[in-house]
Amino acid sequence: AELIGQRPADIVRKLMEMGQMLTFNQPMNMDAASMIADEVGIKIEIAVEKAGEDLLQDVVDTGGEERPEPRPPVVTIMGHVDHGKTSLLDAIRQTKVAEGEAGGITQHIGAYTVSVHGKQVTFLDTPGHEAFTAMRARGAKVTDIVILVVAADDGVMPQTIEAIHHAKAAGVPLIVAINKIDKPGANPDRVRNALSEHGLISEAWGGDTIMVEVSAKQKTGLDQLLEMILLQSEVLELKADPHRQARGAVVEAKLERGRGPVATVLVQSGTLKAGDVFVVGTFSGRVRALINDRGQKIQQAGPSIPVEVIGLPGVPSAGDVFQVVSDERVAREIAEERARKQRAAELAGPAKVSLDDLFAKIQEGSVKELALVIKADVQGSSEALAGAVEKLPTESVKLRVIHNGVGGITESDVLLAAASRAIIIGFNIRPEPKAAALAEQQGVDIRLYTIIYDAIADIKAAMEGLLEPTL
Ligand code: GDP
Repeated sequence: AELIGQRPADIVRKLMEMGQMLTFNQPMNMDAASMIADEVGIKIEIAVEKAGEDLLQDVVDTGGEERPEPRPPVVTIMGHVDHGKTSLLDAIRQTKVAEGEAGGITQHIGAYTVSVHGKQVTFLDTPGHEAFTAMRARGAKVTDIVILVVAADDGVMPQTIEAIHHAKAAGVPLIVAINKIDKPGANPDRVRNALSEHGLISEAWGGDTIMVEVSAKQKTGLDQLLEMILLQSEVLELKADPHRQARGAVVEAKLERGRGPVATVLVQSGTLKAGDVFVVGTFSGRVRALINDRGQKIQQAGPSIPVEVIGLPGVPSAGDVFQVVSDERVAREIAEERARKQRAAELAGPAKVSLDDLFAKIQEGSVKELALVIKADVQGSSEALAGAVEKLPTESVKLRVIHNGVGGITESDVLLAAASRAIIIGFNIRPEPKAAALAEQQGVDIRLYTIIYDAIADIKAAMEGLLEPTL
């Protein structure tokens, strides 16, 4: 009122006429302010002050126009337990690193890079789909290519199928490494045949899945596998702009005696440099030192290169985004705001999809697809259930079964559901205690049934908003 030369009482009256009952010292909304200003012939401009997270983009130096350049592929190895994931990672590391650099001793920092004919390939060091999906659940997509290891003497097993589903749910292409071909009982064709039942048809058989026969033990077929990775990455045309402030993902983090909190960051775009100011998760700081996978101190790391970062004030989580910014004060503000929000979110509990609130979410438009993970006591039931779900008429929401399998609900199922905002349907089985606890923590809805019809009826009712709440 003072600024526009009006009496406060007149403004309050005008507000009342607009249906806004405010007293002298209550704030009014922007629409009301504009209308009153209009009425008295004054033009106002509304300036919104940015704060916290909204400032992030303003303090990232993108280096002007985007100049993307080819970058190395980032590979994760998956497969059934004992099929040779760790052996394969070690075999590649040993042969390739030794070849590349005389006496190069690799350090386990969570990822490593090898050189093949002058081109680089980065491997994430934690094999298995659990780690992969846990990172995805935190919003990090770091893997470009999945290597699915299948032992030629053992064939396609439950975790092989799980890995296929996890890679598919993430939309990441897959190359098959048929391992242990040195073993007397090895039968690669039986593996190809079994994989074809899961939609992976070998190029040799007219399909489009690359399959390479290897032996991690005898170190054969490794070169061919690496070449196939490079070929696949050419098809993917992987690119990133190295001429900007770095952005990456934490692949591993720990507290180390003497060094303090240490995080391995996989740079995804830009170039990370010693001295850079950053925000990662709920922390901010300045890069004190960068150490590569050979244990050497380096000055900078470009796209797809994993590097240990020293200088964090705390230990972030795997999957957290690491962003370099140009303003230390803003970095601190953003980190503090995130910590506040995290505390608030922890108090409010998880906000994921459940059958109970599905209809409301469809109505508000925040859910367009319902992903399902189905587990049953026998193969026949899980397939029957998946088949029946896929036949449900779906106008309001798309139904998609991202994984179906046999056995109790595991932590890996829960992680997949959390990462894909899916719900879990169990038929004649129960969750493992650890999985139940994780589901609770992650807010993943688990529904247990003993009659297929009941499961289908519930899903149908939930889509139509007719589900009776379970309490
Ligand atoms: P992971 O559980 O998938 O990581 O499997 P590991 O790498 O731990 O391997 C499981 C077992 O298989 C170990 O005893 C390895 O020595 C063995 N193994 C792995 N690769 C090969 C291979 O190519 N040939 C043979 N004969 N044994 C292998």
